[in-house]
Amino acid sequence: MKKIIIGNWKMNPLTLKDAGKLFSSVTKGIYGIKKTDVVICPPVLYIERLKKLSKKISLGAQDAFWGEVGPFTGQISAHMLYNAGIRYVILGHSERRELGETSEVVNKKVKESLSAGLRPILCIGESIRDESHGYFNLVKNQLEECLNGVSKNSISKVIVMYEPVWAISSTANRRDATSGDCREMAIFIRKILSDKFGGEVANVRIIYGGSVSGKNAEDFLKNGGVDGLLPGRASLDAKKFVEIIKIAEKI
Ligand code: PEP
Repeated sequence: MKKIIIGNWKMNPLTLKDAGKLFSSVTKGIYGIKKTDVVICPPVLYIERLKKLSKKISLGAQDAFWGEVGPFTGQISAHMLYNAGIRYVILGHSERRELGETSEVVNKKVKESLSAGLRPILCIGESIRDESHGYFNLVKNQLEECLNGVSKNSISKVIVMYEPVWAISSTANRRDATSGDCREMAIFIRKILSDKFGGEVANVRIIYGGSVSGKNAEDFLKNGGVDGLLPGRASLDAKKFVEIIKIAEKI
């Protein structure tokens, strides 16, 4: 399966000018990259400008609403995103769940995004690792709730991102996840998916996010049982982001 590297810019940078500079630097840096899919998820406000700067980098959004069009103040629909040239969408990120988003809502967004033609990047992951291993159940529940009603035909469009919240760069008292932690969970996730969707899941990409850097990318990709990575902080530095892409390209 082709590797995928997805940059989550979150609510950065502060100006369109800086967004353009960062995007252009990545575009230059990935000249010659052929085997790796590269996606950047900037604030949607910057999309119109950024999409003119590179054909090689696909664009993603960081959320999408579940309605198509109508009286939903402040929301942007998956269909609008698609019409604007966006092809991926991060859904259920822990920073949104922290603001109150439930798996039930994420599920509606996943289904709407699929029907709009977007590829959902579905984020799941536990906040803590308890000694009795309850976090396996939590991840299973998140996955099952968020994918409820998704058809076998569309499951291969979904990218499942395992992101242990305790390993994210902005989490207080964070600690590193190992490629072993990741591998164990990737196998667990694939098993749940295959119980639910059967053979179709061979084409589902499972990726890892949580303080990905040039130092750990190779280990996660070689030993973590995943098909790609989603760096947050490192994607805001063109050199660091390109370094991760080049590592994926070599594997
Ligand atoms: C994220 O929260 O999406 C993320 C992966 O962040 P970071 O790489 O900064 O830990």
